[in-house]
This record gives sequence, structure tokens and C-alpha cells, in this order.
Amino acid sequence: MGHLIPPHGGKGLTCCLLEGAELEAEKKKAEGLKKISISPRVKGDLIMMGIGGFSPLTGFMAKADWKRGCEEFLLEDGTFWPIPVTLDASKEDADSVNTGEEIALYDPEGDEIMATMKVTEKYEMSEAEKTFECEKIFMGEGTATAEEFWKIAKDDHPGVQMVMNQKEINLAGPVKVLSESDYPTKYAGIYMRPEESRKIFEENGWTEVAALQLRNPMHRSHEYLCKIAIEVCDGVFIHSLVGNLKPGDIPAEVRVKCIDTLVKNYFVEDFVVQGGYPLDMRYAGPREGLLHATFRQNYGCSRMIIGRDHAGVGDFYGMFEAQTIFDKIPYSSMEDVCKVPGHALLCKPLKIDWTFYCHKCDGMASLRTCPHSKEDRVLLSGTMLRKGLSEGSEIPDHFGRDEVLEILREYYSGLTEKVEIKLHGAATGK
Ligand SMILES: [Zn+2]
Repeated sequence: MGHLIPPHGGKGLTCCLLEGAELEAEKKKAEGLKKISISPRVKGDLIMMGIGGFSPLTGFMAKADWKRGCEEFLLEDGTFWPIPVTLDASKEDADSVNTGEEIALYDPEGDEIMATMKVTEKYEMSEAEKTFECEKIFMGEGTATAEEFWKIAKDDHPGVQMVMNQKEINLAGPVKVLSESDYPTKYAGIYMRPEESRKIFEENGWTEVAALQLRNPMHRSHEYLCKIAIEVCDGVFIHSLVGNLKPGDIPAEVRVKCIDTLVKNYFVEDFVVQGGYPLDMRYAGPREGLLHATFRQNYGCSRMIIGRDHAGVGDFYGMFEAQTIFDKIPYSSMEDVCKVPGHALLCKPLKIDWTFYCHKCDGMASLRTCPHSKEDRVLLSGTMLRKGLSEGSEIPDHFGRDEVLEILREYYSGLTEKVEIKLHGAATGK
């Protein structure tokens, strides 16, 4: 192995995906097992466990891991982990399987058995427990009290809605993953396993690699963030979400095309690697920022770029809460708690302030480098860009590169159904 950061957890890449004869035998066995239907989120989590993206996780969380994770960002054994990775099932399904029994996890979307799992524990997710999870995971500085949080979260927070709509029982246990779904074919050349990105970084001779998380088309701010990272690291890994988004978001294939065009025209290609990962957004802001750093460590990245309102939605989180959480949680408490080598999170944040184009600076700048006033700045946000394009209005100068806007305009002109895009405080520069 080269000098890349080791995978999280101290156990190397833990991959639950079977191959060859073992895979064929398990597939055959799975046909005879009780089938439990899974949600798109669970499907993404399974693939990540399959390819080692969620190392050291090798199954869905037991109650003790879930609870300690919510409260302390740690698994029961003291390993850092910031977000629940759980499998929900209806009471009827849960009652029909015994602890110790093996089940098949079926994806209704792709009509495919994704994995088998040995059920080691069943635990109830009552309304109170779901509420507890939501308040721990999704309640940020954007709301002062739980009462205030719930008033808006019920209707406006897709992550909260996802948890509250989960079925009544969580099933825990180790998984054997049988498929990566259609990701390897649908996103050929983009979808990447951690062992693949690590190999590329090693061949490039890189040690310090920064990851850029992307779920929106790349605009000038993203480009600037990447270029800052390239200046201080060996290279940048532009890592796009190719799992599910919310209505109104732009499909992965269009976003990938935008990145290709941008890299070709505005980057030195030797310093950029593009990849995709199969997760759904959880919209957990700061907690998700930590999760992003955790799985990027598995992909071989030592730094995670965290800008303004990372993985946020609406106004639920403070603008830089996903940066400050790295100071509050892992590094202060982890030295005491994570005594076992590998248990602590090693991937560090690359914190970058609010960036924008400034007419007086005559270039990209941030709140740390530009002394001018609001009127001189072109505030950039993915939400504003999508809204402008969706409504066919003029996109302000310096917002995006012409080559990229061209691709996006073409995509929007082909849409028959329009989704209204809501602007929130952060997007409007309030
Ligand atoms: Zn300026």
C-alpha cells in the first residue's frame, strides 16, 4: 500500500459484496429465504457496505449502536460513526422472522434481491424513538427549540420525513451483498469502488487528496473550492452523488456531463479525478458532513471540503455548522473515547468560507479575502441556479461557465414537467 490515509475503523476496507462461486451460491440460497422489501435509502447503504464505502460497518445497526451513534457519534465498540445506518421493516414482516434466521433484502425498484442478512436483533422504532433520532440527527442551529424545529420539519425537511415514515421495527445483523444494482452499468466510468479510487490516487503518487461533495451542477463556487484544494493538496476527488435526490434536483448524468466539460476547459486534468457514489441524500447537514468525511476516508481522501451550508436543506442549519461540528465532536471527545487505533475519524475538514464572484476584486473571493460590500458580489448557489434555469430567466454573469450553462439550458428545455424550487435564506444571501 502507498501513503494514502487508511480506511476508517482500523480494519482495512470491509467489503460485504460476494463474488464468483460464493455469489452464485448465495443468490440461489436467497431465493428460498423470506423476502423483506427495502427502501431506496437502505439500498444505497447496502451497496456502500458491499464495496467498503461504509468500512468498518458490515451490517445494519443494533439498537445499542443506533442509540450511542445518535447520542455520542460512536458505535457501541467506541468507533466513530455519525449517522444511523438501519434497516426498517413492517411489524408483520418482523414478526414472521426469528432472531438467528436469514432473510433476503429485496429491492422493489430494480426487482432484485440485493443482499441476505442474518437477523441478530429486532427492535421497535416507536414514534418517540423516531422523534429522538430526528432531533439528534437533524436539529441544527437554524431552529432554537424542539417545538420550533418540529413546526417546520414535519412539512419541509425531507430527512425528517424519511425517518418518520420508516416502518415500525428495525432489523439488525450482518449482510452479504449480492449486487451493486445498475450503478456500474448506468454510471460506467463514474461509479467507483473505494479500491478503485485508491488505486488511481496511488498511481498518481498522491498522498493528500481532498474530496468535493457534489449534488448540484458545478458552478463557479465549486470550481473555486476545487482549485483552492488543488493548491494545498496533491489532487481533488470530485465525488458526485448518483443516488436519489428530491424532486427538482438535476439528474446525475447531466451533472457529470457538466463536470467533464468544466474539467476539460478550466482545470489541469492531472489534478482532478471524478467519481460517483450510490447513496441517497439524508439532508442531515453537519452530521452528514461528518458522514461524508467518514466514507471519503474509505475512498482514500484525507481532506473533506466543507463550504457553506454543507448537505443542508432549507434554513435548518447554521451556515457553517457543518464546519464547527468537526471541532466540537470528533477531535475533542475522541481522544478520550476512541482509544483503539483506527476508531477515530482521520479525514479532516478543509473549511472554506462563503465564496462568490466580486466585481471589485475582479475574481472569485470569500468573506475572508474580499473587503467589498454586498452590492459588488455575485452570490452563487445551486438552488438559485436551478431556479433561474427552471424558470428560463437570465443567469447573472459569472454565475457559471458558459459551456456548463449550455448543457443545463438544454436539459431544462427538454423538461415537460416543472417543479417549483423554493429559495431559502441562505440561497438568497440573507
Ligand atoms: Zn471584493
